[in-house]
Amino acid sequence: MSGLRSLPSVDALLQTAQAADWIREYGRPLTVQVIRSELDRARASYPQADKIPDKAELMARIDASLQVWTASSLQPVINASGVILQTNLGRAPLSRAAIQAMQQVALGYSNLEYDLQAGRRGSRLIHAEQLLCRLSGAEAALVVNNNAAAVLLVLTALARRRSVVIARSQLVEIGGGFRVPDVMKQSGARLLEVGTTNRVHRSDYEDALQEKPALFLRAHRSNFRLIGFTSEPELAELAAVAHQAGLPLVDDLGSGSLLDTARFGLGHEPMVQESLAAGADCVCFSGDKLLGGPQAGIILGRAELVTRLKKHPLARAIRADKLCLAALSATLLHYLKDEAEREVPVWRMIAIPPEEVYSRAEQWAAILGVGEVVPGESTVGGGSLPGETLPTYLLAFRMRNPNRFLTRLRQASPPIIARLENDLAIFDPRTVMPEQDAALLEAIRQNLSEVKSTHKEKAPI
Ligand SMILES: *Cc1c(COP(=O)(O)O)cnc(C)c1O
Repeated sequence: MSGLRSLPSVDALLQTAQAADWIREYGRPLTVQVIRSELDRARASYPQADKIPDKAELMARIDASLQVWTASSLQPVINASGVILQTNLGRAPLSRAAIQAMQQVALGYSNLEYDLQAGRRGSRLIHAEQLLCRLSGAEAALVVNNNAAAVLLVLTALARRRSVVIARSQLVEIGGGFRVPDVMKQSGARLLEVGTTNRVHRSDYEDALQEKPALFLRAHRSNFRLIGFTSEPELAELAAVAHQAGLPLVDDLGSGSLLDTARFGLGHEPMVQESLAAGADCVCFSGDKLLGGPQAGIILGRAELVTRLKKHPLARAIRADKLCLAALSATLLHYLKDEAEREVPVWRMIAIPPEEVYSRAEQWAAILGVGEVVPGESTVGGGSLPGETLPTYLLAFRMRNPNRFLTRLRQASPPIIARLENDLAIFDPRTVMPEQDAALLEAIRQNLSEVKSTHKEKAPI
């Protein structure tokens, strides 16, 4: 007897109570499509009759397939890695106020480009501009899609078909394909490298003036450190050379902090205000690195330059959307109200004192009844403070196969990203949101017992 005949028809399946549930949840077209394709798949098992599913198995396959098709591939994860600005994990988590601002603007209409007083078209550019200028001391501001776009716009608008002077030691690759020389090429500007890999002097910049460059560019060495026999002129010195020749100085700060990281026991990350005060005519940085806001590229500087940028056709192609502007304004307000350290998650995580991390790790260990608390290091990441770390405490598990344990945790719901260090599976409380504790501990508990039961592990310490 052919097993094929035992397969129900599409119509018969659609009559079932289960199908009614599917249609309610997933809609009719998708349900019908998935039923068809699972039936086709079942028929394709012929002539191996034993592989043809019975009805229950078939229904289970359809159900699983519908779930897979409708699951979002972008989902929240728990970051227990201790890297505060992890680009792969979406960089900065937003403040509550920023999320609320986005929600309000997303739910309905807004005055994004509407001047309420005049009753006519306005500009989207005004929304964050005033706040940015007030906080930084800049004359003008422009917000675009991300900092890579900001640098591209600045170079395209100000240096196309002309040369840009930059130190060899700053021709950096940031990751994710952002390389300063490539962005330069894309903008149509010519690269005019000066100095050597480790040293560049004021005179190198002065000599470069013979080539009649369009501008000087300084790029932050976001992800590595130059140590040993090195030197570089101060920004103010560079500005003086540039200004004497009537050229602008552009500073790509990368992370661009509004607060002083040195206050938290870290090195000093270049600050936006300092760069402007030192004479940079145009400063670019990311919205979702140390600023702790949404993905954005922020350009600050002299009004005359920023106006040229705003008018360039490329500006329209890389403009920021309303959700970004809403979240960015709300984030900037935290700085204006001097509450960034409390309200902006990135700064809150940086500011947690080691003893507080310690008691949280101890609490985790106590709840789980396993694991040991060991001292370790968190990093800021996100193209800032290369090589700098924050002292922290970690919950650590010693086990025969920590990789297997970490792999299982990545498949948990929500997925958990932890670290492997010295053969220990480690969890840093610093980057775990307090409201995620329960989910984290439950997943650890479950997977510890599974790893143990399948592999006869020594009990973790
Ligand atoms: C991170 C970074 C960029 C790119 O910024 P995105 O916002 O990721 O586009 C550019 N320049 C420097 C120096 C950076 O650190």
